[in-house]
Amino acid sequence: AKHAGRNTWRVYAAEMDGGGPDILGMQRAIRRALDNDEFVLHYQPKVAALDGALRGVEALIRWQDPERGVVSPGEFIPVAERFGLINAIGFWTLREACGQIRSWQHAGWRIPVAVNLSPQQFRQPDLVERVRACIDEFDIDPGLLALEITESVVMESSSSVRRVLEELKAMGVTLSIDDFGTGYSCLAYLCRLPARQLKIDRTFVIDMDHVAEARHVVEAVIRLAHSLRMEVVAEGVERPEQVLTLRSLGCDLIQGYYFSRPVPAAGIEALMQGDQLT
Ligand code: C2E
Ligand code: CA
Ligand code: CA
Ligand code: CA
Repeated sequence: AKHAGRNTWRVYAAEMDGGGPDILGMQRAIRRALDNDEFVLHYQPKVAALDGALRGVEALIRWQDPERGVVSPGEFIPVAERFGLINAIGFWTLREACGQIRSWQHAGWRIPVAVNLSPQQFRQPDLVERVRACIDEFDIDPGLLALEITESVVMESSSSVRRVLEELKAMGVTLSIDDFGTGYSCLAYLCRLPARQLKIDRTFVIDMDHVAEARHVVEAVIRLAHSLRMEVVAEGVERPEQVLTLRSLGCDLIQGYYFSRPVPAAGIEALMQGDQLT
């Protein structure tokens, strides 16, 4: 199934469910990809809802496979996650993002960069040390590094999760709760989390303008976040009506194709040099 085309990973996943996994083959492909620099980060702007000013970017990984072309993270991250291959990728991403923060800092641009942390990576005992090592190695302002952690992970109200979050915060790193609304949050616990930002999942944004309930959820989440002094990002904003609605609801930041798709670093640089977003 190795050269089966774009759905190779799904085929692998199916084989694994059937008990015939080619984990070694996958491991090799991912290691090869790491060795051969086949991964690349694209960056998607997070902009102020009110005036479209760039307030940060989210780093999103892309795999440029020489045979299959660009493989989306939706295809390989879940598989890598399931078989313990995510750490090598995740820490590559972290280093790459820190290197980017540094080169932007050198150019005189302070652009906060958010990195996605997979659940497995978050559970690595040396996560905090590795983040610290990256910040030191690239000598960056820790305030420019944000970590996005999915709601389901941060809501495990274990003391170890809390401790890791507190340590990251103490380091000066910003924490963002990703895909909010897709899990089951305990509100009592949410208010004890040291997160600065809450990202409303795209599914709510999609329904917002035609399903009254979705709009009410978005409104309630924005109020809740503000009362906890968190800033709110709406994900997956594609249409101008959504921008208007989110603005009227007091949403702080907006991320989505309406402003920009994820673009290579050079695209962000062009933006900083004065090109318009839309
Ligand atoms: P996510 O963290 O929820 O990232 C947002 C996804 O929504 C990205 O998909 C982005 O391209 C897409 N998106 C942004 N704006 C819009 C929009 O207006 N419309 C639509 N339809 N989609 C939009 P992408 O890049 O394919 O990434 C998918 C997921 O893969 C991410 O979801 C994240 O969970 C994961 N991922 C990506 N890069 C990394 C990484 O470096 N590490 C880890 N652990 N996960 C990653
Ligand atoms: Ca994210
Ligand atoms: Ca998200
Ligand atoms: Ca999402």
